[in-house]
Amino acid sequence: MSRLNRGLTNFSLERLCSFKVTTHTVTASSPRYSSQYSLKLSDPSKCQGTWAPKRDSLKNMRTYATAVASKGLQDLNERLKNELNTIKGAGLFKKERIITSPQSVHVRVEGYGADMLNFCANNYLGLSNHPEVVKAGKAGLDQFGAGLSSVRFICGTQSLHKDLEKKLSEFHGREDTILYASCFDANAGLFEVLCSSPDDAIISDELNHASIIDGIRLAKTKKFRYAHRDMKDLEEKLKEAENARTKIIVTDGVFSMDGNVAPLPEIIELARKYGALTFIDECHATGFFGKTGRGTEEYFDLPLGSIDILNSTLGKALGGASGGYTTASKEICEMLRQRSRPYLFSNALPPPVVSCAIKVVDMLMESSDLVKKVQSGTTQFRNGLKKMGFDVIGDPSHPICPVMLKDAKLTSKFAEKMQERGIYVVGFSYPVVPKEKARIRVQISAAHTKDDITRALSAFESIGKELNVI
Ligand code: PLP
Repeated sequence: MSRLNRGLTNFSLERLCSFKVTTHTVTASSPRYSSQYSLKLSDPSKCQGTWAPKRDSLKNMRTYATAVASKGLQDLNERLKNELNTIKGAGLFKKERIITSPQSVHVRVEGYGADMLNFCANNYLGLSNHPEVVKAGKAGLDQFGAGLSSVRFICGTQSLHKDLEKKLSEFHGREDTILYASCFDANAGLFEVLCSSPDDAIISDELNHASIIDGIRLAKTKKFRYAHRDMKDLEEKLKEAENARTKIIVTDGVFSMDGNVAPLPEIIELARKYGALTFIDECHATGFFGKTGRGTEEYFDLPLGSIDILNSTLGKALGGASGGYTTASKEICEMLRQRSRPYLFSNALPPPVVSCAIKVVDMLMESSDLVKKVQSGTTQFRNGLKKMGFDVIGDPSHPICPVMLKDAKLTSKFAEKMQERGIYVVGFSYPVVPKEKARIRVQISAAHTKDDITRALSAFESIGKELNVI
């Protein structure tokens, strides 16, 4: 029995009251969880083995993990369960629908019989499942393998990574580019490197993306927040930060919830006046916004490079797999390679993902046809909804089309009815958007045909009438 005791030391004995011992197994029963566990003895002489729930007791128990959970974990689970119930009670619980097909304009969604017409992906150019992009991904997999099992600076840099960095620098008209696992990481890893002292200052739009906010939190520097797109307020904050060593104005190029655009010409003018640098997050602009998809600078007819530092994603228009990057001066990118924590301490991007992105950048360098297509679809959709009397906010030429319904419950009902009609759209409510500003965010893709958009418009019209919105 002493051997058995030694074998049981890693198990939570206080909850297991009785043991039944045979030559090769020990069965422990817990009255608290009305469940049984058996220790299969791989080496009976040393009493070593693995605990597992007895199959026939699974029906009665919550889970093995719950049964062996510490008191601290049980208390935490209980608290989280109550908080989740509160979120559900307020109608704010975000359910995940399960797609059983590739990402595309037509998707199969679990629980819905027919294909659904997808109007809620960031698949702006329709390239997430484009045959050429998929083929490039497969070729990358064959030639360079599944992954690097390493961070970039140890042994995780392949020629493929350098190729993509070079192409992105060319595409954006910048000196250098550094890849990250995501744009969230690019934003999280930038500010603490560039503004590392209390003598520096970051001045940020109040509605910037969560990843920018988190990145700024990490910087040990002075922080200012200006009212959304309010240039008077930005100037006030620049005056307050006048004596800072390095000051950076930080903004999304396009704001993802409202589909509106940062006033770059004015921001650049103020930056020059007060000796500040400029940063934009171009996740919702790169590849499709502006005449050739170069983004918000191009939209304003500003020369590429007018903004000092640009972060963006590969996870939306540029193939939609994953990955992010910073493109800027050689010195900034080199310093990020030395100091940026998500770059230094996280795995290199997988080769198939990099190959897909290279293909997309090549396609964009060759032709702007997809950019034109997403722009004409946007105009068709926005004009159609406006004629019906819907309140659609955002920039008239941006494919993010927020249809304002204001009330959270009405919004989720509207979205459900759209889904029943085979149109996949999602309602956004607090805390993702401010209270009383709930909306359905429709996103147009270059892969939508005119007929697809007409179908979505007619669903909006009939549900809008049914729910007295128009
Ligand atoms: N910045 C903005 C404005 C975004 O919308 C997103 C994604 O939702 C990100 C950053 C993060 O990008 P990624 O998905 O590459 O981490």
